Amino acid sequence: MSSSPDKKGLILVFTGPGKGKTTAALGILFRALGRGMKCGVVQFLKGKWETGERKFAKTIADLDFHVMGLGFTWESDDLDSDKKAARSAWEKSCDMIFSENYKILILDEITYAFHYGWLTPEEVSDVLFRKPTDLHIIITGRNCPTLLTDMADLVTLIESPKHPYKNGIPAQLGIDY
Ligand code: ATP
Ligand code: MG
Repeated sequence: MSSSPDKKGLILVFTGPGKGKTTAALGILFRALGRGMKCGVVQFLKGKWETGERKFAKTIADLDFHVMGLGFTWESDDLDSDKKAARSAWEKSCDMIFSENYKILILDEITYAFHYGWLTPEEVSDVLFRKPTDLHIIITGRNCPTLLTDMADLVTLIESPKHPYKNGIPAQLGIDY
């Protein structure tokens, strides 16, 4: 892929304790899709529950949306099967990164996989160093490791001064899922 000073594949990180990390990443995707850019998402979260974004993604031709372990049998809460599902989500991410088919790829909640030790920040940074020059990568999730924030071009830390959950208000359709 060619690169020019005004066209650079960025590494963007949305992290922190507040709400808005995944939605910020999806907001960028919305913008890019409007520019005719092909986009991909890999969600490193158990694909047990349907979300609005997942349903909507099925209707968008330029968007490939993969959810960790979808079509997978979650035998109770078996950590070994969780790890296998996370490893396969990472393999899928690497295939998408090096396919040169995408302009933007979101690794949603990948920090969750670091938290459980299913993936290491080192193996992810090794791949990001070798990514196609023009590909933008967006990483979301709490507690993003320093190794990744250090190599990122943009880091946005989302705080949580207020959240409805703290007042006992449950997750809302269309706002949270
Ligand atoms: P969103 O997907 O809404 O952008 P997020 O990606 O920033 O949220 P996650 O850590 O992925 O946050 O958590 C997803 C779910 O947890 C959402 O339903 C969200 O409303 C809820 N959540 C996020 N931040 C908080 C918080 N500070 N307190 C309570 N619940 C939260
Ligand atoms: Mg999220």
